[in-house]
Amino acid sequence: MSQVINTQHTIAGPASVSGIGVHTGKPARLTVRPAGESAGVVFVRTDVAGRAADIPALATMVTTTELGTNMTNAAGVSVSTVEHFLAACAGLGVDNVVAELDGPELPILDGSSRPFVEVLEQAGIVQQSAARKALRILKPVEIRQGVKFARLSPGAGFTLKIAIDFATKAIGRQEISFTMAPGAFARDIAWARTFGFAHQAEQLHAMGKGLGASMDNTVVIEGDQILNPGGLQAQDEFVRHKLLDVIGDLFLAGGTIEGLYEAEQPGHALNNQLLRAVFADAASYVWA
Ligand SMILES: [Zn+2]
Repeated sequence: MSQVINTQHTIAGPASVSGIGVHTGKPARLTVRPAGESAGVVFVRTDVAGRAADIPALATMVTTTELGTNMTNAAGVSVSTVEHFLAACAGLGVDNVVAELDGPELPILDGSSRPFVEVLEQAGIVQQSAARKALRILKPVEIRQGVKFARLSPGAGFTLKIAIDFATKAIGRQEISFTMAPGAFARDIAWARTFGFAHQAEQLHAMGKGLGASMDNTVVIEGDQILNPGGLQAQDEFVRHKLLDVIGDLFLAGGTIEGLYEAEQPGHALNNQLLRAVFADAASYVWA
């Protein structure tokens, strides 16, 4: 895939993918459509009538970050579990797209971003004329929560360095460093699936969450074992998925980032707080 990095991109025409939401268990069809220059990514709930159904993919629209990144507009219309789709947009350099959804939650599909990469590639990624602007980080901004932290610092390009640490031997401590470059996301990150713990399933169900989760869309861990018959696609699939989530969450900046992201045990809440902290300090960034 060739990609001119310094101009904006959209898609050539519509394409769709359907499936159930991992938390709601409800079916939804996602249809991506072309969008104009500087439109960004905008979700549109086609099943909602009589009130504003569009939800721009921006950090300020994020309302909850428990078990996924969820956004709500001023009319109270929500879209949940947006991060895997947004990671595909960020990873393929698709700046502007309308994402129509006929339900409350993005389909989980195989638990990775790969099906979203496929739907965007099927739609055809096309160059636009306007220059692409990046959120250039001018000084370090950090959010800390105990041992967890997430930090953005100045740096050329967009590099992410993260670590996760789980007691189970199935995961343990895993680290990854990744630099955004044409083709790199699809090759190294997009296929990494979400994961969960069997002992938490009941608790999640009691909260009305995880109702669509299964071994078709989640790597399931019990004790030190992985229950999926097919096992992992790579030993470090877990940290690769966490990186995928970060890339999706950070695209809620409203575009790509020019800087270095470093984190220990990042999560959706930390990522959203980090973006809000950047935007709260005008000296910490410039769109350039
Ligand atoms: Zn995820």
